[in-house]
Amino acid sequence: MSQQLFEDDVKFLQRFLKSAGFNPGKIDGIWGSKTDAAEDEFLKKSEQIAASYGKFYQRSERNIITLHPKAQEAARQFLKRLQDAGINARIISGTRTYAEQDALYAKGRTQPGSKVTNAKGGQSNHNFGIAWDIGIFDSQGNYQGESPQYDKAAEVGLFAGLEWGGNWQSFQDKPHYQMVTNLAIQQVKERFEKGEYYI
Ligand SMILES: [Zn+2]
Repeated sequence: MSQQLFEDDVKFLQRFLKSAGFNPGKIDGIWGSKTDAAEDEFLKKSEQIAASYGKFYQRSERNIITLHPKAQEAARQFLKRLQDAGINARIISGTRTYAEQDALYAKGRTQPGSKVTNAKGGQSNHNFGIAWDIGIFDSQGNYQGESPQYDKAAEVGLFAGLEWGGNWQSFQDKPHYQMVTNLAIQQVKERFEKGEYYI
């Protein structure tokens, strides 16, 4: 099978796979048979999780598949709770490579009104596969940047082990959810880069 995740960043993919318990071989940024097999295993595992926890709208699926398997399970449980409560939410962002995070950070500083992150590459839980952002949509499928449904989503969707950006003191981030690791972000980063467990 050809490479499907994080296409332009093999090293990022290898770190991601290894820290999630797969064996991509040496973390060297070079695509080889071990990395290929590890990605296949990851995709297989992801399909099993989807079969157990249910599938969702296509855009959500595209983003869920970029998450750490434990976050995939949590994200699907979370979306199910929202769906049962009649909230039309989709996961509009999942894992970002360091380069993608840097690009997002830069964009927020050159385009007024588009500041969506304070984090550079390696400083966000999105870079380690354990965070996602939701969007609320109306019945016609229009994205709602502001809606009381963001609070409602946290009310019905949160469970132990999940943290909501809406509870943060500085830079409140209502669309954002992440897995609780009990580690400082710097420790998560170090473990991720070595391919060690952090969740
Ligand atoms: Zn976020």
